Amino acid sequence: MPYFICPRCRQRSVDIDAREGFTDQAPACRHCGFGFLFELLDDYYPAPATGFVVCDQDRRVLASGRGVFELTGFQEAELMGRDVVEALTLSDPQPVELVREWGVRRMGQKLSIRTSAGSSKNVTADFFPAYDADGGLLVALTPR
Ligand SMILES: [Zn+2]
Repeated sequence: MPYFICPRCRQRSVDIDAREGFTDQAPACRHCGFGFLFELLDDYYPAPATGFVVCDQDRRVLASGRGVFELTGFQEAELMGRDVVEALTLSDPQPVELVREWGVRRMGQKLSIRTSAGSSKNVTADFFPAYDADGGLLVALTPR
């Protein structure tokens, strides 16, 4: 049973009736209207302060959700199209590479990022591969 999560408002949904899968279009969020949901293999419960960043197969940021600005100081427009590892100065790019290469989740990574103000911030980062043909990944950042 596929699980979906909205990168913008963090609402989870389960495809109980398999309706989401009928169209080629990625399903939009029923809660906030955001253009696509991210499919997860297993359910995931983000923390209230978790922020999501969606990236394409080349690690470029496609969208950032609620909480990312509060955490990083970057507006979505400032992150769009940039390499997520460089844009956020992720202290370790390896989890991103493992997700892209092997298509597996990397959970609970203790990393640091650099905010737009230049200060270092400790985060717990979870990385999820995309299961559609485009590849890509979802990064969940939670302050710790
Ligand atoms: Zn939403």
